[in-house]
Amino acid sequence: MNIILLGPPGAGKGTQARILVDKRDMVQLSTGDMLRAARTSGTVMGKTVAGVMDRGELVTDEIVIGLIREQLEDTSHAGGFIFDGFPRTLAQADALGKLLAEMGHTLDCVIEMQVDDDALVARITARSTCANCGEVYNDNTKPVPATAKCTSCGEAAEFTRRADDNQESLKTRLLAYYKQTSPLIGYYYAKGDLTSVDGLASMETVAADIKGALG
Ligand code: ADP
Ligand code: ZN
Repeated sequence: MNIILLGPPGAGKGTQARILVDKRDMVQLSTGDMLRAARTSGTVMGKTVAGVMDRGELVTDEIVIGLIREQLEDTSHAGGFIFDGFPRTLAQADALGKLLAEMGHTLDCVIEMQVDDDALVARITARSTCANCGEVYNDNTKPVPATAKCTSCGEAAEFTRRADDNQESLKTRLLAYYKQTSPLIGYYYAKGDLTSVDGLASMETVAADIKGALG
């Protein structure tokens, strides 16, 4: 089964993707994570995209489609792919459709995670991540334990905030979402692939709703 998690920044796509990976043997393909990895390892591409990402703008279609193509070619299919943060433009959506078709795969479901804008801003500015395992924390709803040991991997890791998780970049990321990504909701609705879930519900409820949608 191949699915897309679609929604604004902070909707909880990464969190739900991790749950699906654990439960269903699926492979998470997050272009945001791939781009951050390229920056950390200091590749030419990583250097090219750094400023764009920190401002909250979209990286070029060419770069992210290239990353997804590479991963689709290199990764064994397992229980299927979860596309997280990709596609983000109509050109990316078309490219993904072609890539999957070439490989003899289908797209089974697009899950739209709906969250209102005030909640997104509150979530994102309170967010931090375990540098060791990627577990996501929130200052208000799921704070880093007083022991500073990660509840997921048990390490006394660093808990880092993303460079683009600030008010200014967030404004740009939201604008990019409404201008460039939200048209995908209509695109996949028209294709008959779309299911919408309430992303404001608890993590467990959202997970159950997604499970229901996937069958
Ligand atoms: P979020 O959904 O929380 O904004 P991501 O981790 O998905 O964050 O993406 C972080 C940044 O990486 C984006 O703001 C953008 O600059 C870049 N990026 C990630 N995926 C894409 C994509 N599919 N197309 C263009 N840019 C992307
Ligand atoms: Zn951890």
